[in-house]
Amino acid sequence: MSRNIDKMINEFNDKYFPGWREWENIYYSNAVAGEAGELCNVVKKSIGGGTKHDLRSPAEFDRDIKEEIADMAIYLHIFALKLGTKLDALIRLKMKELERRMNERRKVK
Ligand SMILES: [Mg+2]
Repeated sequence: MSRNIDKMINEFNDKYFPGWREWENIYYSNAVAGEAGELCNVVKKSIGGGTKHDLRSPAEFDRDIKEEIADMAIYLHIFALKLGTKLDALIRLKMKELERRMNERRKVK
C-alpha cells in the first residue's frame, strides 16, 4: 500500500512541483502544522464552535475532517520522502519503540 502512495506522491510532485526535494524542511513542517490547524478548525465547527453559522451537514463535516486528515498524511509522506525515508518505515520504528516502552513500564509495576 505504502509503496503505491509514495510512488503516487513522487510522480505528482515531480510533475507539478519540480525541485520539491530541495525545498527547506521548514516548508514541510509548517505545511503539516497548517493542515493540523485546518483539521482542528473543521472539528471545532462540527461541534458548534466559532461563529456557529456553519451550515455544513454532519456528513459534510465528516467528509471535510477526513480530507484534512488526508492532507496531513500527504504532507507527512512528502516530508519523509524528502528526507530520504518512508513514512511507514518511520511509523514501524516508532511503534517498535512504543512497544519497548510499554513493556518496560509493565516491568516496573
Ligand atoms: Mg487542508
